[in-house]
Amino acid sequence: MPRSEPIKAVRGVRDILPTERPLWRVAETAAAETARRFGYEEIVTPVIEHAELIERAGDDSDAFVKELYRFEDRGGRKLALRPEATAGVVRAYFEHGLQQGPQPARLFLTGPMFRYDRPQKGRYRQFFQLDVEAIGSGNAGLDAEVIELARDWLTELGLGNLRLELNSIGDSRCRPAYLDELRSYYRPLKEKLSGDSQARLERNPLRLLDSKAAEDAPFKSGAPRITDHLCSDCSAHWQQVRRTLDSAGIEYVLNPYLVRGLDYYTRTVFEFYPGGATGQQDALAGGGRYDGLAEAEGWPPTPAVGFASGLDRVTDLMATSGEEIIARPAADVLVLPDGDLAVEAAEVARICRAARTVSVDYDPRSLKAKMRSADKVGAKWVVIITADNAKSRTAQLKDMASGIQAEVPWSELSERLA
Ligand code: AMP
Repeated sequence: MPRSEPIKAVRGVRDILPTERPLWRVAETAAAETARRFGYEEIVTPVIEHAELIERAGDDSDAFVKELYRFEDRGGRKLALRPEATAGVVRAYFEHGLQQGPQPARLFLTGPMFRYDRPQKGRYRQFFQLDVEAIGSGNAGLDAEVIELARDWLTELGLGNLRLELNSIGDSRCRPAYLDELRSYYRPLKEKLSGDSQARLERNPLRLLDSKAAEDAPFKSGAPRITDHLCSDCSAHWQQVRRTLDSAGIEYVLNPYLVRGLDYYTRTVFEFYPGGATGQQDALAGGGRYDGLAEAEGWPPTPAVGFASGLDRVTDLMATSGEEIIARPAADVLVLPDGDLAVEAAEVARICRAARTVSVDYDPRSLKAKMRSADKVGAKWVVIITADNAKSRTAQLKDMASGIQAEVPWSELSERLA
């Protein structure tokens, strides 16, 4: 019979191995602690949602609809793997009456997101995000608050060398007039623009500003800036966000080309980059205000602000920036049965587990070989059981650091290891 090929992981997804998990755990624990320090509570929403929920929040041309993992389940429902968390968190906020509780609802979530994008370094089809949302208030203080939360978290992870880019994209009152100006500016240049930008010029001219195409680059600096065209409410909001950041000592760079292409995004937009890096590819976190999203999902209009950060990129950067995370051995105590003593070894392990993390080396190798690997994995103690030990219900307890070894009755093991 021909041997079948072994089946490997799906393209664009990856395994996070036990050697990498400690670093991830540091990032996740710091995220939860930082979020709680700011009064944010954890929410868990499903990985699958109705495709329509995501599609209503996007538009056909938007990457995250084009990149949607969309499928039909066995009951014929049209579902999607979530490409980001916000749409689902907003759905859950209304579905469970969180709008009737204290406002804003301050929520955070970590979990996998899915986008059918071209995989490359730092870009995966399944990736993990920390998502932070404050729903139910339009106060500018919250825009600054989520920015401060993101900054504190990244700083705590040793990634304090950051560049924060900031912009305001106005709202449904001031943006339409600005978009007309932008169209008027770009129309005479149309022939010189990239194909994508030509296609977007009438429908979504804001996206011309964040185009990466070389053809579009020379025209950006002459384009009208939205921050010069904000209505008085947006302008006051914009000033207050900056004043709050200034008083918190948070530095930022004003980037008039930082935009979001969808109508429900309003006012503040921001992105965090590692200091020194440029280009969207390297963004560690991105967020902003989305006062129009609830309505786009069919709920009552409700202001909200938040951000999402990619844990894959954050942990990659932690690893390369030399944050030293000492990987703990899988277990402090290793039980080494010398011979066919599996039942006794399991019992001794159970006793030791009252005090320490314990694993058993069941391999039928010589005791010498087992001692060598106990040393290699960094066990702090080994508990050796020979046939004679098993009869007298004793064991040889060895402290690996000092090398001191003593015979100990099983009944005293957990006390000696405590
Ligand atoms: P976005 O939801 O596109 O604003 O992305 C928010 C953050 O998630 C980005 O700043 C990245 O850190 C991360 N991210 C987005 N897409 C991916 C991906 N395909 N792979 C890994 N991280 C991603």
